[in-house]
Amino acid sequence: MASEVRGVVAMAKGEPVSLVTVVVPEPGPGEALVQVQSCGVCHTDLHYREGGISDEFPFLLGHEAAGVVEAVGPDVVSVQPGDFVVLNWRAVCGECRACKRGRPWYCFNTHNATQNMTLSDGTPLAPALGIGAFAEKTLVASGQCTKVNPAARPEAVGLLGCGVMAGLGSAMLTGEVGTGDSVAVFGCGGVGCAAIAGAQLVGAATVIAVDLDAGKLELARQFGATDVVDASRQDVVAAVRALTGGFGADVCIEAVGDPTVMEQAFYARDLAGTLVQVGVPTPYMRIDLPMIDFFGRGGQLRPSWYGDCLPSRDFPMLVDLYLQGRLDLDRFVTETIALEDVEEAFHRMGRGEVLRSVVMM
Ligand SMILES: [Zn+2]
Ligand SMILES: [Zn+2]
Repeated sequence: MASEVRGVVAMAKGEPVSLVTVVVPEPGPGEALVQVQSCGVCHTDLHYREGGISDEFPFLLGHEAAGVVEAVGPDVVSVQPGDFVVLNWRAVCGECRACKRGRPWYCFNTHNATQNMTLSDGTPLAPALGIGAFAEKTLVASGQCTKVNPAARPEAVGLLGCGVMAGLGSAMLTGEVGTGDSVAVFGCGGVGCAAIAGAQLVGAATVIAVDLDAGKLELARQFGATDVVDASRQDVVAAVRALTGGFGADVCIEAVGDPTVMEQAFYARDLAGTLVQVGVPTPYMRIDLPMIDFFGRGGQLRPSWYGDCLPSRDFPMLVDLYLQGRLDLDRFVTETIALEDVEEAFHRMGRGEVLRSVVMM
């Protein structure tokens, strides 16, 4: 029988979100029904509400979640009822050209649930990033459930489902930061702070945090930044070069999604260095660089989509590092809130007051 639960829905472009009844079907083939325990409030949820992702309203928001599997479809063997899972939006297909070439973290055909969750009048809901976890229960593809150690706090490890994984992966996977490297991270919100934590975790010797906000720079230090650059008062490129022997950083990570910041990161990079873009731009942004500089400086420019993570490989490992005290995921949780508080959490996020507000069910 379908479940009726409370969920946070964006009904129309730009309107405040509503807490409404959501009908969640029993899991069919390839699906899992999850009792959501925690779900972080991410900028992407706000982008959905503002119509910046698509026009397929109404959206069931929420996608940085942890919970317990309640039921699975008849053919599902990867998870079973009672499993503690972190939800992901990269349930790889195993069949597409990326998967077949052994690069499933680029999977071009990731799985979501096939049945719709609906409003009580039957209107189908589009779940944010195929998850929709600002709800007491959600229906996902079984591959979107990654089983992790149940000793972990859901409000902390659920954040691996999106922004924190994107940041960690931008340094550890896309940027391939290694022991002794110098790294500069541009933008110290949740994703940027995770990039700093990731760079520190894999042994970067110098980790430079760049932001316009002194409070965020202080937070960046807590995540392991060795140096900070206040972009409201300093020439960013000159400052990063000065902190790296006059050369620039081996890896620069753009975690804002802004053309000006992208250009700073491009030039703050050492020759043959790597520039990673993990900040999400809008469709109207353009970059304009002298082609001779692109060629002449060498190295690599690499977009990082979800940190190039493979959830089945990376989530359990990162949760273990968290439980060993080597990766501070608790620090990302600024506050825990109720489902009723999501709209207010969007405002706090907009004012830059929080790394993450996390809804607890
Ligand atoms: Zn695939
Ligand atoms: Zn997100």
